[in-house]
Amino acid sequence: MSKKVKDFGIEKTLKNLGIKDENKGTSTGGKYFASGKTIESYSPVDGNLIAKVKTSGESDYEKVLEAAQNAFKEFRLIPAPKRGEIVRQLGQKLRQYKDDLGKLVSYEMGKSLQEGLGEVQEMIDICDFAVGVSRQLHGYTMHSERPGHRMYEQYHPLGIVGIITAFNFPVAVWSWNTALAWICGNVTIWKPSEKTPLCAIACQNIMNEVLKENNLPEGISSVLVADHEIGQKLVDDKRVALISFTGSTRVGRMVSANVAQRFGKSILELGGNNAIIITQDADINMSIIGAVFGAVGTAGQRCTSTRRLIIHESVYEEVKNRLVKAYGQLKIGNPLDESNHVGPLIDTDAVNLYQEAIKKGKKEGAKFIVEGEVLKGKGYESGCYVKPCIAEVKNSYEIVQHETFAPILYLIKYKTLEEAIAIQNDVPQGLSSAIMTQNLREAELFLSQAGSDCGIANVNIGTSGAEIGGAFGGEKETGGGRESGSDVWKYYMRRQTNTINYTTNLPLAQGIKFDL
Ligand code: NAD
Repeated sequence: MSKKVKDFGIEKTLKNLGIKDENKGTSTGGKYFASGKTIESYSPVDGNLIAKVKTSGESDYEKVLEAAQNAFKEFRLIPAPKRGEIVRQLGQKLRQYKDDLGKLVSYEMGKSLQEGLGEVQEMIDICDFAVGVSRQLHGYTMHSERPGHRMYEQYHPLGIVGIITAFNFPVAVWSWNTALAWICGNVTIWKPSEKTPLCAIACQNIMNEVLKENNLPEGISSVLVADHEIGQKLVDDKRVALISFTGSTRVGRMVSANVAQRFGKSILELGGNNAIIITQDADINMSIIGAVFGAVGTAGQRCTSTRRLIIHESVYEEVKNRLVKAYGQLKIGNPLDESNHVGPLIDTDAVNLYQEAIKKGKKEGAKFIVEGEVLKGKGYESGCYVKPCIAEVKNSYEIVQHETFAPILYLIKYKTLEEAIAIQNDVPQGLSSAIMTQNLREAELFLSQAGSDCGIANVNIGTSGAEIGGAFGGEKETGGGRESGSDVWKYYMRRQTNTINYTTNLPLAQGIKFDL
């Protein structure tokens, strides 16, 4: 471990979170076990090996599924507000471990410490939200057409919820799903990204404390640290009622088809290609802050990262010049050092994809006004640090139509707002969108049915970042799923319509007579 990293207290953090040099990757709430191959987790911050994890093999998978099936039989009988109490305790534990978990997220994934802490705060917030919802799992009551009958709808838990997550939100997405799945009475099995296995083990360790303190059976919340093959097993497994998948559109497309094939349910949270429209009536200062943070935050590795700026021709030059100036001031380096604005990409594969995208963009005609570059030398030894770049493009370029998970920002000029909205919508993805304007008419048109086609549409806020409380997710190739707020608990339950006859007759619906 380098001296610099020692200065940031990583060793103590790992100890506090129960991460050893060699770990086992399967837990159902009690002891860890593993029979699969060993993977190594390297930090993109400094390239150092953080720890090894023996992954879950096929026999471990079976043990986890069995434990989950058994646990569900008990867990579903606990009243929802009591399950909410367990989620409340998880939130309390997360408050206790916030600093350590936030730091581990930063060190293993590479996002800034502030963003790592923010991610843990989201976990705390979803727990608070879910506690309230646990007392609100309501259905409609409707009038029956038959006299002396009562009709209503109620919701029941589904069973096992499989959660497959991406590397870029290595802890929050698990909690978004777990907190809501739990209050609904489900048990969960988590297959985290193999790129951030230690974050998963840290979460499970925190969870295991809660399970133990409440004397809960094993199998209510399990983790399978493993590669995509175990993920595929979960997807194909009929015993898993719902698959909540967060990841790329490429993998999500397969997950969606395979789960549908077996009539399972899925929540899909896939790639985005998010744009901010900057109109002639925009507050340019706010626009620059929103655009730069959206494009370079998490080194462009958020599903909601700003990838395109659609700028009115009258302010185009001004915005462009100010962006170039702002990019010139960006500090790129160790994300644990709060004076840096941009940290590393997750690994050198991601660096290669960044380089390929730049090459491809240039071939198509992209004009780079801030050039990209892989950074070398002191502080950049991991090989994962890249320079955020900006290019002037046409929206129709193939590379612009794709999500490149790196800090590459595309500028596009427009004349009318209708044209800007058409450009904004003219990509396969539909996650997040924003307009910067002080003009009410522009804002309302953008939010209208003739406006943005995304799951998230903001006014005078950038595309990235979302609050717990609102349903989060996107349309088109983003998958259509919703998580983390509003009434999304319904995704985690099955709906049942009940009709009760409290008379001594048996009238049939639609006035049908059936005399015997
Ligand atoms: P990825 O698709 O490569 O991997 C995601 C997860 O899927 C990993 O756990 C991986 O092991 C697993 N997986 C891979 N192949 C599988 C298979 N055949 N069956 C089952 N599981 C399989 O994605 P990534 O690189 O980790 O994450 C980046 C992507 O995630 C980006 O596209 C980003 O936009 C997206 N993302 C979306 C949201 C959202 O809410 N919409 C949030 C975060 C990330």
